[in-house]
Amino acid sequence: MLEWLFGRRKQLLKQEITAEEKSLLERAFWQAPHLTAPQREQLIRWVRVFISEKTWEGCNGVEITQSMQWSIAATAGMMVLAYPDWYFDKTATILVHPRPYRVRVDSAAVSNNPILGGEFHRAGETIYRGPVVLNWHDIQAAVASHNQGHHLVIHEFAHQLDMINGPAADGLPPLPGNVNEDSWRSQMRAEYEVARDMVGQGHNILMDDYGLTHESEFFAVASELYFQLPHELREYHPNVFKLLKQFYVIDMALTLGD
Ligand SMILES: [Zn+2]
Repeated sequence: MLEWLFGRRKQLLKQEITAEEKSLLERAFWQAPHLTAPQREQLIRWVRVFISEKTWEGCNGVEITQSMQWSIAATAGMMVLAYPDWYFDKTATILVHPRPYRVRVDSAAVSNNPILGGEFHRAGETIYRGPVVLNWHDIQAAVASHNQGHHLVIHEFAHQLDMINGPAADGLPPLPGNVNEDSWRSQMRAEYEVARDMVGQGHNILMDDYGLTHESEFFAVASELYFQLPHELREYHPNVFKLLKQFYVIDMALTLGD
């Protein structure tokens, strides 16, 4: 099975890049023109593999189009430009709703707490070894512009990266060998606490409130800012920017023009 998979990957990776693929990438997301030519080529090849290996399902009437696939895949691929062999292998399926969707959460499933049960609107979610669920309405604005720092695809795939080293999303992705994990984690945790304190004292901060609900959300929301508003992240949360750069390696502030 694996041999077949790697054989197929190899074949997809070595095919010539076509003019159509170049134009699909250009239109896939707003950061594309800022990437270097080698980064764009690497990304096109990565996107081919990603699109072909995942099962794509439209929900509630969504018809999956090629440009949707390119926007989602290229955004996820931009996040792992430094790790071109990572294809989010634990994610087999991508579900796309037209807009934020309603889910029923059974209170029995959340520790029998009736307050946590009920019906909710969700923009998306990511399930360990399960699907990544997205909605096209929220993605469109984010692939066309910085969207005030929000990006559903980056958010959900950041959770996937967080879960590479274990099923619990804890805000700690696998780090490159030259980065000290304990130090990275304690600095990120300190940033999380500082941000919570600032908001607790009534200050407005760049980081969205949702990022202050859990360390894993802090990592996901900070990742959205890293790729969507890197200059602002570097200015207002410089240490968070530095820590994320150690993980993502690609310096998005430089990429988008200093
Ligand atoms: Zn989240």
